[in-house]
Amino acid sequence: MQLILMGPPGAGKGTQAANLVKKFGIPHISTGDMFRAAVAEGTELGKQAKACMDAGKLVPDDVTIGIVRERLSKDDCKKGFILDGFPRTVEQADALNKILDELGLQLTRVLNIHVPAEDLIERAVGRRICKGCGATYHVKFNPTKVEGTCDNCGGELYQRKDDNEATMKNRLSVYEASTKPLIDYYSKAGLYTQIDGRQSIEKVTDDLSRVLSSVG
Ligand SMILES: [Zn+2]
Repeated sequence: MQLILMGPPGAGKGTQAANLVKKFGIPHISTGDMFRAAVAEGTELGKQAKACMDAGKLVPDDVTIGIVRERLSKDDCKKGFILDGFPRTVEQADALNKILDELGLQLTRVLNIHVPAEDLIERAVGRRICKGCGATYHVKFNPTKVEGTCDNCGGELYQRKDDNEATMKNRLSVYEASTKPLIDYYSKAGLYTQIDGRQSIEKVTDDLSRVLSSVG
């Protein structure tokens, strides 16, 4: 089962990826983890990526694609994988097709956890985090028993600086503009499925699993 998992910041993609890993026993491959692993292993491509990142430059596409190829060729991907954060562009999507061809694989599905921008903004603006233990709450959806105080450890809650309406609006419009071409690309290929991310975590996992059992 070869999957791409998409979703805007704050849609719960990480949680859903973890649930799918448990359910289907395939690895979750995020771009960040993949880069860190390549750098840590000291592969040739990892060295090139590190040099770019150290210099504050973007990692060139051929290096990124090479790292993806190496990662997807590993044994733990034989049963499948969940790609997260790649591809980011249509060019990278073409490159991924080539990699999969070389490996004798096909993309099973591209899943997008969709949450409307106004809901994501509401989620972010109401988010509160404990200074003591890092637990997250929401003033409306998951409030603490005592306002401003963590239920777990009694620590003080704070609001992250980025969790405000202007920053979220900006992040979401950048995200939307960059993912639209990919959504069109995979829709045309008949591989795209949108899941309603406004539902409970369990319900979203159920919907994802249902789609996957119908195509897998
Ligand atoms: Zn706490």
